[in-house]
Amino acid sequence: MTRTTRKQPASPAAPAVPVLDPPTPDPFLSDRPVVPPGKPLIEVEDLHKSFGGLHVLRGITTTIKKGEVVVVIGPSGGGKSTFLRCLNLLETPTSGRIWFGGEEIVSGGSLQRDGTDRRLSHRARERNLNRYRSDMGMVFQRFNLFPHMTVIDNISMAPRMIRGVSREAAEKKAMELLERVGLPDKARAYPSQLSGGQMQRIAIARAMAMEPRVLLFDEPTSALDPEMVGEVLAVMQELAANHMTMVIVTHEMNFARDVADRVLFLEGGVILEEGPPSVIFENPSQPRTRDFLSKIIAGAPEASAK
Ligand code: ADP
Ligand code: MG
Repeated sequence: MTRTTRKQPASPAAPAVPVLDPPTPDPFLSDRPVVPPGKPLIEVEDLHKSFGGLHVLRGITTTIKKGEVVVVIGPSGGGKSTFLRCLNLLETPTSGRIWFGGEEIVSGGSLQRDGTDRRLSHRARERNLNRYRSDMGMVFQRFNLFPHMTVIDNISMAPRMIRGVSREAAEKKAMELLERVGLPDKARAYPSQLSGGQMQRIAIARAMAMEPRVLLFDEPTSALDPEMVGEVLAVMQELAANHMTMVIVTHEMNFARDVADRVLFLEGGVILEEGPPSVIFENPSQPRTRDFLSKIIAGAPEASAK
């Protein structure tokens, strides 16, 4: 498996001297704000989310650095999915602030129900939201592939439709990603012809096709038969080894221990504790964390809660 780069292949007429980092011709990518030096990729400050009277997120503050792998653990109903969904604005935060790439995306209650920012013009709102969402790839528990499309169309559609990439370029990239997830022979298959593990690897390839700056995973293996979990975790492990920034909600504790730079324990809508996996798993400071981990490791039903 190879790391994809954004460098363009040299054309036959190119000079013998290699040109380093040519300007990318893709206006979509070059439009991205550059993270100021020393700034985290994502900053979240006092994030709250209520559904009607139900106060689910109760003040989340954290930062995610470029290249960092953050694993979120915690009991069912604690707000893990809501946190991920607020990060990529599938849910509109009730209050709090989010910066992405140094740019303030959410400020207090400035977001409208559809996730756009009321302080901006209509056009700027749409543009910002689209750019922001496609900078964050999301992989769900239940794959969400389009059933009526082949695998290669599933992967290449968003780059073609949203970024205006040509069919040829989008399919070439899709094939590279299929190689990377180990499924090049499935390009012309339909999702119904694939196993759950294969579908989830395709869903990861589809998220990567937009060249996101961060990937969010919401329990990517908990809907899979046990024998398929490993192949999906292996793909995620390869991404981590290649410094993809990732936020992963999972109950796979061995995997978390291996890949996480940092583990967040989320319960009752707050981060009760966070730290490197060695500390959270071996020597957590909070009794609640200890209690949760002992149940998970003992295989309590909570561990597989959907
Ligand atoms: P987790 O992923 O940690 O299991 P969730 O973020 O899915 O937790 O849910 C946290 C709480 O928010 C739960 O009580 C859930 O029922 C509630 N919740 C989540 N989404 C919605 C929604 N769209 N409308 C109302 N309540 C919701
Ligand atoms: Mg969840």
